[in-house]
Amino acid sequence: MIIVLKPNAPAVERDRIITNLEKRGYKIDVSRGDQSTILGIVGDTSVLNPHDLMVNDWIEKVMRVQEPFKRANRAFHPEDSVVDVAGVPIGGRTIQVMAGPCSVETKEQVTGIAKSVKMAGAHLLRGGAFKPRTSPYSFQGLGAPGLDLLKEAKAETGLPIVTEIMSEDMIDRFVEDVDMIQVGARNMQNFSLLKALGRTRKPILLKRGLAATVQEWLMSAEYIMAEGNPNVVLCERGIRTFENYTRNTLDLSAVLAVKKLSHLPVIVDPSHAAGLWWMVPQLAKAAVAAGADGLLIEVHNDPEAALCDGAQSLKPERFAELMGELKGIARIIGRDL
Ligand code: PEP
Ligand code: MN
Repeated sequence: MIIVLKPNAPAVERDRIITNLEKRGYKIDVSRGDQSTILGIVGDTSVLNPHDLMVNDWIEKVMRVQEPFKRANRAFHPEDSVVDVAGVPIGGRTIQVMAGPCSVETKEQVTGIAKSVKMAGAHLLRGGAFKPRTSPYSFQGLGAPGLDLLKEAKAETGLPIVTEIMSEDMIDRFVEDVDMIQVGARNMQNFSLLKALGRTRKPILLKRGLAATVQEWLMSAEYIMAEGNPNVVLCERGIRTFENYTRNTLDLSAVLAVKKLSHLPVIVDPSHAAGLWWMVPQLAKAAVAAGADGLLIEVHNDPEAALCDGAQSLKPERFAELMGELKGIARIIGRDL
C-alpha cells in the first residue's frame, strides 16, 4: 500500500503518520519526489482500511499495490533509482559499460584486458573468479586468487570491479575487495544468498534466471531489498527458449517491462544472451536503443585460447569500435556514454 502526501505536507505530519504505522509493526519506505512525498507501507496491509488513513487531511490518496514486489515497485519510488558503484552511477543519464573476460586467468591477461577496455572507455571491469560451470570438469575459475588479480587490475586502471559470488561464506571477502557483487543467473533464486547480500550495503548485479519471468526476477530483487539493501541493478542476459541457434534468447522487451514495473536500473548482457561474438555489437546497440542503463560485455585478448566463453568474447579492437558506435546511439536517444 502507498500513501501519497499533499505537495506541501509539513514534515511533522509526515513523521506522525510514519510513527503511527511503525507502532503497528509496518516498515515505511519514504520517497521524496519533486512534487510530493510517497510513503510505501511494507507488511500485511490487508487489515488497513484506506478510509481510516484518509482522515489525515495531508494525505492526497491511498493506493493498494497489486504486485507482490513492493520495495522494487515503481509505485513506491516513482523516480528512477541510481545505484552508485564506487563513484560510477548506474541508472542515470550515462550508459555504463562493464567489460572484461568471462574468467580471470592470469595477471597479464586480466590487467592487459582491463587496460584496453579502459582505453576504449569502459566504466567498470568485469571478470569471474568463481565460475558456475555446467560441467564439474570445466575450468571452475581461480577462486580467491582471482580476486587478488582483479584487485591488481583495478589498482593499475582505476576501474571498479564486478565479479560473481557463488556462496554465502565468501560475502565478507567480497564486501572488502569488490565494488559490485554479481549474482549469476543460476543463483537468482538462491534465497539464502540473496538475504545475506541484503544485509550488506554493497551494489548487487542481479542477473535474470535461466528461465525466470520478469516477476520472479523482481521478487529476487525484493529479497535483497527487504533485508535493507536498496542497491540492486538488474541484468537481462537472455532466457531459455526453444531456439537453439543462439545460446539464449535476448529478451529486450524485459528491459521495457522492468522499467515500467520498477525503479531499479537495468542493464543488458548481449554476450551470454547470444553466445556468438559477431552478434554482440548489434545486440548491444539494440539494448541501448531500447533503454538499457548499461551493458555487460565479455572481452578477451585471445578468444581462441580463453578458458571460458571465448566464442562470445569480443577482441579488444572490436570492443573499442563498438564503444564509438554506442556513443552515436546514446546521443540520438539523449543519453551519454
Ligand atoms: C557470467 O557473467 O560470466 C555468467 C556466468 O553469466 P550468467 O550467470 O548470466 O550465465
Ligand atoms: Mn561468461
